[in-house]
Amino acid sequence: MTTLLISDLHLHPGAPRVTEGFLHWLEERARGCDALYILGDFFEAWIGDDLLDLGDHDPTGNALLAAHIAASLKQLANSGTAIYLMHGNRDFLLGERFANEAGATLLPDPSVVELGGERVLLMHGDSLCTRDEAYQAFRTQARNPLWQEQVLSMPLQERIALARQMRERSGEANSNKAEDIMDVTPEQVVKVMAEHGVTTLIHGHTHRPAEHSLEVEGQPAKRYVLGDWQPGQGWEIVVEDGEEPRLRDVPLFGESE
Ligand code: MN
Repeated sequence: MTTLLISDLHLHPGAPRVTEGFLHWLEERARGCDALYILGDFFEAWIGDDLLDLGDHDPTGNALLAAHIAASLKQLANSGTAIYLMHGNRDFLLGERFANEAGATLLPDPSVVELGGERVLLMHGDSLCTRDEAYQAFRTQARNPLWQEQVLSMPLQERIALARQMRERSGEANSNKAEDIMDVTPEQVVKVMAEHGVTTLIHGHTHRPAEHSLEVEGQPAKRYVLGDWQPGQGWEIVVEDGEEPRLRDVPLFGESE
């Protein structure tokens, strides 16, 4: 069993080298693996799965990008790799339709899965940043099914405008830079790991790739943090049977390189 985990690709039409690099990585690296977990913020923004209806009528290019990515994931799924998608704080409106078109399964945040013979807690990571109270308040609202239903029932063009407005209004809150994203609260990490009875946690979100040692209820434990993808460089965690997770940065090549 070989399992790969990635997060925070922040795919968007303005970063074609990351998209190209990811498609190349899918083909060269992910093919033949048993499972691929994408732990959120796969897309920089997601305004609803009906975006896929727009095709090349979407002037922002997001619709074509999403369709292309879904088709590429579907190919990998058809070749035998199980694909799991978790929501991030940017693509939390990603739904069943996209997942189906990508041959993927939506995974709740948090989820406990067995990797390499060990129970491992998977999260996006934003819920661990409890010191950012303004964000946590927004998160509670944005994860409410009624709020989501309301937003998704707005016409697409209005949602595109709303997304732009929200980003412009709080440039700082929407930044992707690690120094602007609050780090996890250590006590919250221990609490959540103890609640789920695990000694291994894997998450993304903070853009601070690292392997941390800690203690959970007297047991030695590990917290692995995936990094965000940039042109030329991505991050993955690989888990082989009976082995500990390994975090590594991966060089990304595009078709043009
Ligand atoms: Mn995030």
